[in-house]
Amino acid sequence: CKASGRNRSLRFNPALELRAQEDLSLEQDLRRALNENLLSVNYQPIVDGRSGEPVSLEALVRWQHPQQGFISPERFVGLAEQHGFVAELDAWVARRACADLVALLDEGYDLRVAVNCSALNLSNLQMPEVVARILERTGLDPARLTVEVTENALMNSLGAAVRTLDAVRELGVKVSIDDFGSGYSSLNMLYTLPLDILKIDRKFVSELKEHTRTASVLNVIVQLGKGLGLPVVAEGVETEEQFAFLREHNCDYVQGFYFSAPL
Ligand code: C2E
Ligand code: MG
Ligand code: MG
Repeated sequence: CKASGRNRSLRFNPALELRAQEDLSLEQDLRRALNENLLSVNYQPIVDGRSGEPVSLEALVRWQHPQQGFISPERFVGLAEQHGFVAELDAWVARRACADLVALLDEGYDLRVAVNCSALNLSNLQMPEVVARILERTGLDPARLTVEVTENALMNSLGAAVRTLDAVRELGVKVSIDDFGSGYSSLNMLYTLPLDILKIDRKFVSELKEHTRTASVLNVIVQLGKGLGLPVVAEGVETEEQFAFLREHNCDYVQGFYFSAPL
């Protein structure tokens, strides 16, 4: 009932208990994996729409469970959110990602890095301090870091989110709105939130066909970004046709399996 928005009743069914038991043991395993550094981070390039050169890397957390094998971040990030330790999880990923980028910069690569931030962390006023400490410890230039937040979950506590994101930007870190267009009040977010980058939900790219409404919507979002002075990233680009469309419509950055899977 809580998971479906509270204030309702549901009939008990044994599958729910099984799921709850699985969640409980998975949650404990996840805490252990986090504490023992058993998670890992994959990186997917974000590519310049014109030159096709990688300009940034998105850090995506990975968990190989000892018995159950690969578990998707959508599942276990959700568990960390429900059980109140997603701030630790995101900080762990950010620490690893910043350190890895510093190593790449030392090797001569000119790249940036983007980390995902659970929207729950945005009501946590300590979050900017955590980011500041990670930058200090790893020695990464703040201008090379982007924090991606998902608009869907932002609506609950918009005021707190604005304060947190302002503080993050004061550090010199960029803020990107992830999965843009899939939430409820996207346009409202655009003038309420302090933002630097617009990242279009991959649904618009995967459903893209020339001369359809999806194509028009995609094009309009790119223009919207231009009008607001926000660079636009399209994710989930899987085919040459999708890339050609985006390039033709001057999408600033692209990301997806067509260029590289997360590695
Ligand atoms: P996201 O931030 O929107 O990340 C993009 C997702 O799209 C990734 O899934 C990536 O593997 C996938 N993807 C990339 N290119 C393509 C493509 O061409 N086609 C398709 N179909 N998919 C593509 P992944 O790694 O499973 O992550 C899923 C979500 O989990 C992420 O969505 C993000 O919201 C969340 N997540 C991942 N890592 C973290 C993390 O460290 N912290 C938090 N809070 N959330 C994370
Ligand atoms: Mg993301
Ligand atoms: Mg996304």
